Amino acid sequence: MAYDDSVRPLRVAIIGSGPSGIYAAEALTAHQDVPVSVDVFDRLCTPFGLVRYGVAPDHQKIKNVTAALLRILQRPQIRFFGRVGYGRDVTHDDLKQYYDAVIYAVGAAEDRALGIPGENLPGSLSATEFVAWYNGHPDTLSLVMPPPPPGVAVVGIGNVAVDVARVLGKTVEELASTDIATNALETLSHSQVTDIYILGRRGPAQAKFTLKELKELGELAAADFIVRPEELALTPAAEAAITDVTVRRSLEVLRDLAARAPSGKPRRIHLRFLASPVEILGQVGVEGLRIERNRLDEQERAVGTGTYETLDVQMVLRAVGYKGRPIANVPFDLRRGVIPNEGGRVQQDGTTVPGEYVVGWIKSGPVGVIGTNKASAVETVTNLLQDALDLPTPARPDAAAITALLTERHVPYTTLEDWLKLDTYEQELGRMQGRVRVKIDSPEAMARLQCQELALSAAGSV
Ligand code: NAP
Repeated sequence: MAYDDSVRPLRVAIIGSGPSGIYAAEALTAHQDVPVSVDVFDRLCTPFGLVRYGVAPDHQKIKNVTAALLRILQRPQIRFFGRVGYGRDVTHDDLKQYYDAVIYAVGAAEDRALGIPGENLPGSLSATEFVAWYNGHPDTLSLVMPPPPPGVAVVGIGNVAVDVARVLGKTVEELASTDIATNALETLSHSQVTDIYILGRRGPAQAKFTLKELKELGELAAADFIVRPEELALTPAAEAAITDVTVRRSLEVLRDLAARAPSGKPRRIHLRFLASPVEILGQVGVEGLRIERNRLDEQERAVGTGTYETLDVQMVLRAVGYKGRPIANVPFDLRRGVIPNEGGRVQQDGTTVPGEYVVGWIKSGPVGVIGTNKASAVETVTNLLQDALDLPTPARPDAAAITALLTERHVPYTTLEDWLKLDTYEQELGRMQGRVRVKIDSPEAMARLQCQELALSAAGSV
């Protein structure tokens, strides 16, 4: 039957339980007068997406947003289905049959490439992989990460680059109490790193990192943070052109840092500006990184000067931004790496695809902080609710039909209660080891834990 709010609630499926998906669920269930029933699907059995698997483990304050996200998922109109993959366990056609509308909240999981020779050498990898590895993402279970070598280059000057450099610069003692993956902590305990280079292709005024993250680099126990004063020099015109107060403040902090003499700590984080990687050197692995000195043109673009330098590094991590990945039967803009949309309404060849919406990074690209997703979700949901009465009629809009389908297909889906058990277990295990939590990362172990009474005495056997 067509949607009639006096007869049945509007049924909405959200694909992805990261912050953007959960904020969309919040916006959908915010109005008492509009009955809406929401099913949030995730291919993993754990909710919260990048908050669990992207935010750095030593940034627990940022992870505190989890409590608010959980309260949203606990609303009676919302159900969580973990371990249900879009395209694997439920298809586009299924969703059309069971829901009035679908919101894709699948994020931007793909890393951008540099497009330089040597990029595929062992030891050259994306920050996306490295971040997922130290956060214990189940996708990285088979990744064999060697202990960091003496020299590591991190390309990019956004917050991901800073996160990665900071984690590499910290000692095991500084990381041990966090929820960093246990295997990553063990590998990092064998780190040989002495020099970490963060490379910005443009200047300090164009850096994307935020002030708090920048300052943290100057406060590490065993790593000096080295900024070259000459790379902060701006022409009077460039200096005068800076109107953004945050950029001004960031320049001040950088100049303070540049004035500090290194104190002889065993590790050094070098922040370099106006330097582009041009070739990763090596035969069987990374043996060096060739960089070219840049200048800025009138549009603040980086232009090579023909002056080169080689950094003595054995590992290169690309932190040059993310992009979305196409998903089955949904239009995709390959150039921008997003699902094309107008205010969150999915577009194909200039027309709106009825009943399909987007939120988060797959809507807007990988920009902003977690909170940015909230306003973006409200925009999408406002448009969805405006469209509600005209949406195509699903064949099976009753809430029980989708669970029956998953059961019939033997999809071992998990619920929010399962997650809460796992969450308690991880935190309890953490408490016993003096850590925030100990993440369980293998899908099999997660599944086992969720199907059994949790016996903490058997913790070591998971
Ligand atoms: P980002 O902020 O867009 O930074 C990407 C960096 O890569 C920029 O410095 C960019 O320089 C550089 N870059 C791009 N292409 C390059 C190339 N070919 N060669 C050299 N450099 C290149 O991306 P991100 O660091 O991945 O962060 C994504 C989003 O997550 C951001 O909104 C960020 O703030 C957020 N985030 C926040 C936190 C936090 O709050 N603590 C932590 C992690 C991430 P140009 O400017 O020259 O393009």
